[in-house]
Formats: sequence, C-alpha cells, structure tokens
Amino acid sequence: MRPGMAHRSTPVVTELTAPFWRATEQGRIELQYCALCNRFIFPPFPECLGCDSSRPEWREVAASGSINTISVVESDILPGLEELIPLQVALVALDGVPGVLIPSNVLGAGARSGDRVRATFEYAGTVALPLFALDATAVEQ
Ligand SMILES: [Zn+2]
Repeated sequence: MRPGMAHRSTPVVTELTAPFWRATEQGRIELQYCALCNRFIFPPFPECLGCDSSRPEWREVAASGSINTISVVESDILPGLEELIPLQVALVALDGVPGVLIPSNVLGAGARSGDRVRATFEYAGTVALPLFALDATAVEQ
C-alpha cells in the first residue's frame, strides 16, 4: 500500500472471479456475457441465470459510466476508517452495459447521482480494486 492510500479490504480471488481480477490488474474491466441472452452478468456466476448456458464468456467493457445511486458517509462513524471519509459508496452504470450496476467507491468528494465517472485502479494487497473518480473531461449536461 502506498503512503496516503486508504486501507481497503482485499477480496479473495476464486476460480470464478479470477478473469475479473486479471483484467483489473491490467487497468481494464471485463464482465461475464451470455451470447445466447445477449446480456452481461455481474457478479460472476458459474452459469447464466437467464438461460442456464454453461459458461458465459468474458468481455471487456467501458471503464467509464455514470453514478446510478450514491450514499455518502461524511462523519467518522467508523472508528479506524477516518481516512476513508467522505466515504462515497455508489452503484455505477458502465457505458454500454445495460442491466448491471457495479458497487464501488467514488474517490474525492461532492459526487452526486448522475455524475460521470471513470474507473481508477487501486491495489488492496495483490488485488487491483476498480474504484471510480469523477470524470473531469465529461461535458456538463
Ligand atoms: Zn444466457
């Protein structure tokens, strides 16, 4: 962990989730996709929940999107985690990925629902977590 970085829990990589974490380590986001149902699946499942198709494939998706829902913790009600305040917990809708919301944290402060965000990757142990930052290049709507 680099100095000044917030502490975040390290996910356990499993056979099922390994492709996701391999992609984030390369600064990309890949999600499962069922070609039969023409839909993305998240979080990963052994088979498609829509058609029971045996093994959904992995596809790279956009690392940009918008905040669908956000909850901001501004007071330090979590002793030991003051470094995370303001803690912005959001559901992010990635561009071109209908029907999937990615739970994550938005870095910085002042994020609101509808804001454009871009993924940024931060290591927790050996795993690169996809976090999001407000997209400064996004045009105000
Ligand atoms: Zn399917």
